Amino acid sequence: MYDFKFQRPGGLAAALEAFQQADDGQFLAGGQTVIPVMKQRLAMPSDLIDLGALDELKGITVAGGIVSIGSMTTHAEVAASEDIRQAIPALADLASGIGDPHVRNRGTLGGSIANNDPAADYPAAVVALSATVHTDRRQISGDDFFTGMFETALEDGELITKVDFPVAEAAAYEKFENTASRYALVAVMVCRRAESVRVTVIGAGPCVFRVPEMEKALEAEFTSDALKDIAVSYPDLNTDLHASAYYRAHLIGVLTARAVKKAS
Ligand SMILES: Cc1cc2nc3c(=O)[nH]c(=O)nc-3n(C[C@H](O)[C@H](O)[C@H](O)COP(=O)(O)OP(=O)(O)OC[C@H]3O[C@@H](n4cnc5c(N)ncnc54)[C@H](O)[C@@H]3O)c2cc1C
Repeated sequence: MYDFKFQRPGGLAAALEAFQQADDGQFLAGGQTVIPVMKQRLAMPSDLIDLGALDELKGITVAGGIVSIGSMTTHAEVAASEDIRQAIPALADLASGIGDPHVRNRGTLGGSIANNDPAADYPAAVVALSATVHTDRRQISGDDFFTGMFETALEDGELITKVDFPVAEAAAYEKFENTASRYALVAVMVCRRAESVRVTVIGAGPCVFRVPEMEKALEAEFTSDALKDIAVSYPDLNTDLHASAYYRAHLIGVLTARAVKKAS
């Protein structure tokens, strides 16, 4: 580690002000990415601005068909929420499969989507469920939020306050995890609404993406059979020591079929 200034503001305005005043500030949520990255000196912020005392960023409400989750809400809280289990069970299911108990008790929704790891689970839900990301200065459609590998639409110093997830007719999440890291090799969320179906994939490319061919087939017939003649094109998918692009493409088909069965 190296010297840096640790700040723990008591409110949103003070946190934003601290960022403005810092030479090179960084927000700290649960530290599950920030701390290891700082240990490796891949990031060396002058000021670490801990959001832990900002109660306005914590909590879950369900009202008017919207599940609203504060950015500092932990994965464990989402997984355990009876309100979310009732409204969008797939979301609680997704959160319950993130990492291990330590990661789930420290990691947050805001930190996860701000970081936008290619294998992070939440981006699949934000896009599949047509969520809206609220920040201190605007609302960003989930479709526009994730812009590339570890890249988002957030501007410098922009702070995520909450994410709104509209309740779906049906949704399901299927994850094929790397048993060592618990990150997804590939995971798929399927979301069905009266007028449309969305299929989102994480772990297989640089960033969350949709599979329009599958969505179209499922809009015509919401059964796993509707997918049987669709082969996912794989040349642009990730190949690494864990899995080839071809294998990941195969997994997308298998997991989408399972998610459709689960959502049915
Ligand atoms: C061993 C291990 C296994 C994991 N497995 C999984 C997994 O299976 N699936 C998965 O999805 N994730 C996994 N993770 C990631 C984890 O779930 C966290 O979500 C992720 O590391 C971010 O951590 P955090 O919320 O503590 O944010 P931090 O590490 O504190 O912050 C991450 C980034 O987000 C920024 N940030 C934080 N909050 C905000 C905000 N409100 N507004 C704007 N910017 C903000 C920070 O400045 C920083 O750049 C794993 C992590 C570890 C260490």
